[in-house]
Amino acid sequence: MLNIKRKIDNSVPAIIEKLGYLINPLILNFVNENNRLLIFYFHGLYESTVQKELNHIDPQNNITVGQFIEFIDYFLHHNYHFIKPEDLLGDIEKDKRYIMITFDDGYFNNSLAVEVLNKYKIPAVFFISTKNVLENKSFWWDIIYKYRTKKGISLETIRKEQASLKSFKYSYIENYITQNFGTESAKPWSDIDRPLNEFELKDISQNPFVSIGNHTHNHAILTNYNKEEINEEFAVCNKALLNLTGRIPISIAFPNGNFNTLILEVAEEIGFRVAFTTQNYINKLPITNSHAICLNRFMAKTTNIKNYGGFIRLGYNPDLLYYNFKKRVMFFKKR
Ligand SMILES: [Zn+2]
Repeated sequence: MLNIKRKIDNSVPAIIEKLGYLINPLILNFVNENNRLLIFYFHGLYESTVQKELNHIDPQNNITVGQFIEFIDYFLHHNYHFIKPEDLLGDIEKDKRYIMITFDDGYFNNSLAVEVLNKYKIPAVFFISTKNVLENKSFWWDIIYKYRTKKGISLETIRKEQASLKSFKYSYIENYITQNFGTESAKPWSDIDRPLNEFELKDISQNPFVSIGNHTHNHAILTNYNKEEINEEFAVCNKALLNLTGRIPISIAFPNGNFNTLILEVAEEIGFRVAFTTQNYINKLPITNSHAICLNRFMAKTTNIKNYGGFIRLGYNPDLLYYNFKKRVMFFKKR
């Protein structure tokens, strides 16, 4: 029974995607996409699919440079304007459609994206967890993924192990990694899984198409921390970024997307103007809020943007459509 359920859960979003590919051009004739801001978040980027097969990094929804170019082409062809967080502080022209590219964590492989941004002359924001950069340490979820995969452990088991750590502070997770995988395990395996180094970060931060944002010092899942600790995570990261780039970031992306009112308050106190969540929705413009701007983001997908782009332009992704449909069915079942 569980197996059938899982199969349905895996295949329905894919079917919705296919349907979307066919019907969305029709719906979009009637839907006005203007005054919308779509934001996507990416993590790592692969040079090619060969790199993916090496399993040096948790694949998450990572795409190749080729797919990233297809993604950009798609939105350029549909008249979207690419913007960065700083643009939201000024006047945004009305009756246009906007998109923002964001990269979380601070992988060295994000340099591949910078080359593409240069070529297309479009901006993106990179959220950096500074401890990994300063100490050249792999990200903990990648360590679990690569060591377990090498031993032939199933993806499902790996996902469970990663998820079980997300309710803890960084110090606990770091301890867990050392005890289970050894002190040397934080050493990156290659250019695929390593973070940017200080010089590379400094270099890309000088690029006019690059905005650098805070992703906390320890990639802290902030809902596990108290007020002082949250403040420290933001402040230490800001200080390191100021040292490296010469600027204090105006934006923050909450690690793992976890946030609450306290975290938003502290973010505002520190001086962030724009905060990024991982809530799967579109953003409506103009944003009229005297507080820091809080924005929703869609996770990028590995399937071709042509297939799921239509739904995203309507403000939904296929997974979210299916999730909401399931929630509604459960609601009526209960009644
Ligand atoms: Zn992250």
